[in-house]
Amino acid sequence: MQLALNPLASRQVAVIGAGAGGLVAARELRREGHKVVVFERGDQVGGTWVYTPKVESDLLGLHPDRTTVHSSMYQSLRTNLPRESMGFRDFPFVAKEEDEERDPRRFPGHTEVLRYLKDFASEFGISEIVRFETEVMVVDSVEGGKWKVKSKSKGGDGVDDEIYDAVVVCNGHYTEPRIAEIPGIISWKGKQFHSHNYRNPEPFRDQVVILIGGAASSADISRELAGVAKEVHIASRSVADEAFGKQPGYDNMWLHSMIKSAHDDGSVAFQDGSVVVADIILHCTGYKYHFPFLETNGIVTVDDNRVGPLYKHVFPPALAPSLSFVGLPWKVVPFPEFEFQSKWIAGLLSNRIALPSKEEMMEDIKAFYSLLEASGIPKRYTHNLGDCQFEYNDWLAALCGCPVSEEWRKKMYLEVSKNRHARPETYRDEWEDDHLVLQAHEDFKKYTL
Ligand code: FAD
Repeated sequence: MQLALNPLASRQVAVIGAGAGGLVAARELRREGHKVVVFERGDQVGGTWVYTPKVESDLLGLHPDRTTVHSSMYQSLRTNLPRESMGFRDFPFVAKEEDEERDPRRFPGHTEVLRYLKDFASEFGISEIVRFETEVMVVDSVEGGKWKVKSKSKGGDGVDDEIYDAVVVCNGHYTEPRIAEIPGIISWKGKQFHSHNYRNPEPFRDQVVILIGGAASSADISRELAGVAKEVHIASRSVADEAFGKQPGYDNMWLHSMIKSAHDDGSVAFQDGSVVVADIILHCTGYKYHFPFLETNGIVTVDDNRVGPLYKHVFPPALAPSLSFVGLPWKVVPFPEFEFQSKWIAGLLSNRIALPSKEEMMEDIKAFYSLLEASGIPKRYTHNLGDCQFEYNDWLAALCGCPVSEEWRKKMYLEVSKNRHARPETYRDEWEDDHLVLQAHEDFKKYTL
């Protein structure tokens, strides 16, 4: 552990966003003795878990002046991680069987996750420090290493200006759609959606739909659509050639290679030579990191979905530790990781923990980027932690002087990934890792008894 010798400091910290990341950041900062204000442009905590039937004015999510909706949740969404592994470490996400309103399933629906986050906010008194319906418009560095935060509250007149010692950015990264570029799409006459604006299958009834993308949302939505659409065609670049064709168990679902081109007669050609005349293209192609409020004079940039340069996905060396990001990594178990990152930020701001020098951090970042390049990993996968997530979490834990990730949590992640792969349709209701669930509950007794 790198321990600092300076006396402990209490800082004024602005946290942007009251989703899972902002909530746990606020808690850890307060535990460390900092004074915290959380800015939240929505009217409640929970971020992406606040489901709304509303969609944006541009269903593809590209128009810069569109009315935006933060959440990407769809009506039927159930978690793709089991609740035991999802929860914050000292506030287990356990089923509340005694409350009939709650969803006791191991892979619950989105409302249950929102309730859990609300319980967390109330347990730790976070709601009281959230300024709801207040959007951060500008974050700009000022003299003395501090930050000017300009915010605008709903119904308020004008923009408020305040100075903070530090800013923690927790604005989420599932709101700004990324779409696939398709030659000829401009003259293609069908409708296009991004999955950000998918809520339920009704608009797709009796339609011929092409979904682009092979990740979690495409897998769930394609099955849901197969129940109502005339035909469902999935274009994916991450599937072996032999899997192309009609999908077992369905008479209206096909898997294809990526799209080659779209045409003004409504047809869409795939790289494998197949052609489909479609009504709708649904882009399940992910999201872009987006920080419209952040002014760093080019110190932090987003380049091909790499937010950089960032030391360990959290700190830009030139602005550390007063500017930090919680929640950038993906393909992870998010909540516990947010907790580790937040402990690290809180401990650094109080001087309890020290950072390496700026030069050392830059060297580390350069080495990381070189490694990605040498391994043929595209820039846009910079924050995809996947298999390295527990190593990363344990590294953070060691710095913060807190216990590393529980063994059952690591094993459960692997077991569930295997089960999801083997039984994509039923993994949420059938599993073989009950022994790990028992171990998790044994561990939870520390916090629940
Ligand atoms: P968010 O929850 O997006 O919160 C960001 C907050 O910042 C929002 O409340 C927003 O209003 C606010 N904000 C943004 N900009 C501003 C501004 N300028 N001023 C003020 N406020 C602002 N995770 C799991 O653990 N399990 C799952 O099963 C799972 N399924 C998912 C399914 C879908 C469809 C999606 C999109 C995500 C899923 N996730 C899942 C990941 C999920 O994103 C994380 O669990 C987590 O909720 C992200 O929290 P966050 O705080 O980083 O961001």
